[in-house]
Amino acid sequence: MKHEEIVKKMTLEEKASLLSGKNFWESMDYQEYGIPSFFLSDGPHGLRKQAAAADQLGLNPSLPATCFPTAASLANSWNAELVQSVGTALGEEALKLKVHMVLGPGMNMKRNPRCGRNFEYFSEDPYLAGKLAAGMVRGIQSNGIGSCIKHWACNSQENRRINSDSIVDERALREIYTEAFEIAIEEGGAMAIMSSYNMLNGIYTNENDHLNKDILRGEFAYKGLMVTDWGGENDRIAGLLSTNELEMPGNNGDTDREIVKAVKEGKLDETIVDEAADNVIDYALKTDLAFKDYKEPVGEINGEKVTGMNCFPEMKAAHHSVAKAASDETMVLLKNEGNVLPLKKEDKVAIIGDFANNPRYQGAGSSQVNCTQLDNFTDLKDKFKFDYVGYAQGFDRYNKAKGKKALVEEAIALAKKADVIVYFMGLDEVTESEGLDRDNLLIPSHQTELLKQLHELGKKIVVILSAGSVVDLTWDDNCDALLNGALSGQAGCNSILDMLNGDVTPSGKTSETYIVKYEDTPSIDNFETGKVAIPYAESIYIGYRYFEKNNIDVKYPFGYGLSYTTFEYSNLEVTEKGIKVTIKNTGSYAGKEIVELYVGLKDSKIFRAVKELKGFAKTKLLKPGEEEVVEIKFDNKTFRYFNVKTMKWEVEEGDYDLYVAAASNDVRLTGSIHKKGTTTEFPYDASKLPSYFSGNVQHVSEEEFKELYGKELPNDEFDWCNKKHTRMHIHQENLFCDLCYARGWTGRLIGKALRMLVRHGEKHNKGLRNAIVMGPYGFPVRSMSRMMGMPMAQCEGLRMMFDGHFHKGFAQFIRGGKQKPKYPKENHYKKVDKKKK
Ligand code: BGC
Repeated sequence: MKHEEIVKKMTLEEKASLLSGKNFWESMDYQEYGIPSFFLSDGPHGLRKQAAAADQLGLNPSLPATCFPTAASLANSWNAELVQSVGTALGEEALKLKVHMVLGPGMNMKRNPRCGRNFEYFSEDPYLAGKLAAGMVRGIQSNGIGSCIKHWACNSQENRRINSDSIVDERALREIYTEAFEIAIEEGGAMAIMSSYNMLNGIYTNENDHLNKDILRGEFAYKGLMVTDWGGENDRIAGLLSTNELEMPGNNGDTDREIVKAVKEGKLDETIVDEAADNVIDYALKTDLAFKDYKEPVGEINGEKVTGMNCFPEMKAAHHSVAKAASDETMVLLKNEGNVLPLKKEDKVAIIGDFANNPRYQGAGSSQVNCTQLDNFTDLKDKFKFDYVGYAQGFDRYNKAKGKKALVEEAIALAKKADVIVYFMGLDEVTESEGLDRDNLLIPSHQTELLKQLHELGKKIVVILSAGSVVDLTWDDNCDALLNGALSGQAGCNSILDMLNGDVTPSGKTSETYIVKYEDTPSIDNFETGKVAIPYAESIYIGYRYFEKNNIDVKYPFGYGLSYTTFEYSNLEVTEKGIKVTIKNTGSYAGKEIVELYVGLKDSKIFRAVKELKGFAKTKLLKPGEEEVVEIKFDNKTFRYFNVKTMKWEVEEGDYDLYVAAASNDVRLTGSIHKKGTTTEFPYDASKLPSYFSGNVQHVSEEEFKELYGKELPNDEFDWCNKKHTRMHIHQENLFCDLCYARGWTGRLIGKALRMLVRHGEKHNKGLRNAIVMGPYGFPVRSMSRMMGMPMAQCEGLRMMFDGHFHKGFAQFIRGGKQKPKYPKENHYKKVDKKKK
């Protein structure tokens, strides 16, 4: 133990109380033992330190802070150093606002384009996600505070996120779903990790010994802190036994008491409590050092009251520039026919679209930042280097009927005066959000229809797209150029303008595949099906791994992006250590190039993707005619695969193909290298796994997936009470939306009332719908205690009522309410502001 002398002095109750939050955002402190508390705040692309009422859904405001591009955007930069610089700035803000742990980066795999939280994640490729997340972690932690990588693991859907069960075969688990975390720990040194809400293979992730003990603490040798996702604790003792030290938020000491009881009854060894407390103390003491000279911000500038990062005007301005430098590299030029971009000085340009005047720059939920300033495209008029003929809104993003016709007419009239139309379109604020998946990939049709009408005028059209994840792009025949602005933070509009002006050359490339249609997605049969169990039946074939293997046409492939200039690749040199290649700027604009290294093995004895990303590098800004020798080193992941027979990482002997590429579909140079193998026993019988060997995994039979999975599939049934499945037993893990089927009328009443509200919101107020789905509808019964601090005994009373035992449940509810939090040091709880609970 690192702090044995402190731990020894503490009572069992005190140690247990360290293992859950003091309140919504803070850990427990004991001044008498010199243990400070630490503050945890979201999130991945900017701080969301809540000033007053706390929630984890992004509903209540937070202190102003810089909003950097979201992870989905940052990933398009393919630049770990750039992401690190964002992390450094984010960490600096954490220092100013007294945050000891930044809850990010989010690094789950983009298994399906409809996942509502894809904007918060990096990529469909674990190597890319891991390298960029490691950069972010290094940056945040360079300030002496910690970064909490999340959500560990296999949390790739939002609907039923709190109790869905991801059924994942061991190889996909290792090669796809945990590799990014491995890299962020190995190369970033993450000090904290957040377990996800979901189950993995039948066991909640924070209770899953295989995930936590074998993989995380064992193979990855992770020594840091494990924190639950907010309200995600299921069985506290099981979580603790599985090395999950800190439960967040606090729940009035309910689960601390469970821990104490378990020790007293001999069910839990006190040394486990000691070790967990020791790790919490260690985190608190280490990060507290960063605040040695901390001074509360002076909340006034020139007589005006200011809060958050507005108290630090110099840093605020500097970080706006960091956000701008980041967004410069995150935009992806997907199309540029006739080199319409950059715009020419003499081009008469009309700006059209709601998003030009009111940018969409981040997603919704716990990552929502209250930004310090926001660049707005139309406000940047003075910097336009083209002949600006005017702005028209064109459409209301929520498609309000009132004034719709007039908006279209105004846009058409303006467009007629122009040679080039720059059209800002995208997804609105309520479509992409934490807590719920998107229904489809479509951009609202009123936007694509206006685009068509504009196209019919015969003008050149440049589309600027704002969306945090893959959208349907079948409408792109109606534009000449398409710049994916994605969700690029508070300075994004400035970057867009620099690109239109030709002052910045686009240098981003896609970090996920833009498919032609949703039906092409490999996980189509097994994504938010409404059931608890979600088989990841496509195994390792997500994203480009699937599309390439099956020769499926895609709209814009993984790793793709145009530039204003061109690059020549030459002199490929392959050594045992890696590759070197010369990149020359052969065009007439200065620009940066992303070089991608893919590795493949033909005639493999295991099933494989055609090729996989195993390295990448970005050049410096190359002037026309300038060249750079780029080196990409091999590492311990370049040739490995996970052998499920030996349960080890192994290498298959063979001649590996090396593809040096400008995009996954644009290989510029090839090489090869022979590797000696370690495999003596191959894991698969190809005759029993035809879909996996062919890659045709969209509709795998249950038998075949079971063969791959290697054991019985976990039960995916609710606890139905009848054959018709109209009534179910309600357990603490059931979600409030399940209550519609509850045995007890109280349950059904609440379930149906919530469902009515959701349906009403669906039609009339999507924001309300989101809040309900993200909140009560999507949370389990136990969250009344785990999240809202109701005593568990009382929560159990509610559950009994929902389950049809009204009188018993009611009595229990009343009795349970009398249970008061009791601690030897009651003042710890007195300090907590009730409003924050
Ligand atoms: C989210 C986490 C977030 C936490 C605290 C949860 O609902 O899943 O990503 O860090 O809330 O806001």
